[in-house]
Amino acid sequence: MKKNIAVIKGDGIGPEIVTEAMKILDKIAEKYGHEFEYDQVLMGGCSIDEYGEPLTDDTIARCKAADAVLMGSIGGNTTTSPWYKLPPNLRPEAGLLKLRKELGLFANLRPAVLYSQLSGACPLKEEISAKGFDMLIMRELTGGLYFGERKTEEVDGVMTAVDTLSYNENEIRRIAVKAFDVAMKRRKKVTSVDKANVLDSSRLWRKVVEEVAKDYPEVTLEHMLVDNSAMQLVKEPAQFDVMVTENMFGDILSDEASMITGSIGMLASASMNETKFGLYEPSGGSAPDIAGQNKANPIATILSAAMMLRYSFDMNEEADAVENAVNAVLDEGIRTGDIMSEGMKLVSCSEMGDIIASKL
Ligand code: NAD
Repeated sequence: MKKNIAVIKGDGIGPEIVTEAMKILDKIAEKYGHEFEYDQVLMGGCSIDEYGEPLTDDTIARCKAADAVLMGSIGGNTTTSPWYKLPPNLRPEAGLLKLRKELGLFANLRPAVLYSQLSGACPLKEEISAKGFDMLIMRELTGGLYFGERKTEEVDGVMTAVDTLSYNENEIRRIAVKAFDVAMKRRKKVTSVDKANVLDSSRLWRKVVEEVAKDYPEVTLEHMLVDNSAMQLVKEPAQFDVMVTENMFGDILSDEASMITGSIGMLASASMNETKFGLYEPSGGSAPDIAGQNKANPIATILSAAMMLRYSFDMNEEADAVENAVNAVLDEGIRTGDIMSEGMKLVSCSEMGDIIASKL
């Protein structure tokens, strides 16, 4: 299969970690007879330096023309970098927000996996972490409270602020469809998270999710209130497969889920639109403190590339191969600095990429 991938290496550790992910994709292409063409484009701080703006129309057009986008990370040290002296709409992060909007990316997929080899980094009790977990939080990204009407005004002499939480049935349906599609490629369980005992938007959410579920008889659906979900995530995370929820609940729960894995360098993510198109990037930032030192952990980016294979290209076997290679390397005690522990072997970013590639 031939695929055109727009590549945004970005800033800080971005170029180092994306180079390793491309190494893995090249190995997959060679082994399975695919052809991956890369179109490298600038976004973020490097685009500001080159073009005076974080995202150009040319970059947008080339990302739109691609089958998927692979990204490292953007941004610099927010106190010392000159990028942060610019007006907010010209800073690196503005480029990413605009790109997500231009590409219509409404579904944010954040897997949270506790690898048994790294269970020591999990802050939960051993009896819970020993069971491991492998879940994916699907967060709605373009609606709800963060995008609703808002105002701050004086009402009867009292300052009053209002934010609006609104969802229409179409917005709910498309994210629910995405969640069930993803569940079909996993363990076929969807937990829909809401606050239906209080909120109208949640009651509509629940109704539409139930309608969508009828098209997926193989998938088990359960509803869970958001407060209970926050508790269950630390009490019994192994119960979750795909958790789907609205924007703000997803913002909070996905960070909670990341935290209980204990290792930011391992966390992949994807943002998708209504088609199979997606932007794949690690959850972490550009880590300016270790940039250019060949110390970063490339695994989150490599696992993001595996998500691209699975969800944008339907290459499930290839995605499994990448995930198994990562597991094999962890089994052998190979570690970058961020996940290092006593008795393990410390390797650089590029060595980690080489060793994972050698397992494919
Ligand atoms: P960060 O995630 O870049 O770094 C936090 C800590 O985690 C640092 O100690 C860093 O060294 C470490 N870390 C992160 N990724 C790692 C990896 N792959 N391997 C090893 N260690 C890793 O967060 P920050 O320092 O708050 O932000 C730095 C910059 O990144 C800021 O400009 C921020 O806006 C930007 N940022 C970008 C994205 C994105 O591109 N989507 C996301 C988050 C933050």
